[in-house]
Amino acid sequence: MVNGLDTVRMNVLRLTISGFDIAKRKKNERGTMKEKVLRKLFLGFVQIHILHHAKTKGVSGTWLMEELQEHGYKISPGTLYPLLHRMADQGLLKREDVLVKGKVSKLYAISGFGEEILDEAVAKAGELLHEVVH
Ligand SMILES: [Zn+2]
Repeated sequence: MVNGLDTVRMNVLRLTISGFDIAKRKKNERGTMKEKVLRKLFLGFVQIHILHHAKTKGVSGTWLMEELQEHGYKISPGTLYPLLHRMADQGLLKREDVLVKGKVSKLYAISGFGEEILDEAVAKAGELLHEVVH
């Protein structure tokens, strides 16, 4: 049998649990918001990074994914490949199919337009860094 005091205790416990749940949910929401904001912000950095490497050699999606991971960018194939396609469609990258060990692999190299954009982006990033760091 449940007496009055037990009912009060149970309600307190229930409130504590729901309060804990709300705090946890808020923390998770903040987490996803942070990720969302950073993802959007870093997309520009990632594109500059891609152009930079595509300037020195033809790069594959696989190579870029590892390279970006080494720099601390978590980027999934589902994000990177469409981004490479988009950058090629925009004329920033030239796509080339090469045969590697009997398999067709796509390599991306910078275009003249891509170099123009890279130069401008690097100049702007340099100026911004100078302003922020000093
Ligand atoms: Zn790099």
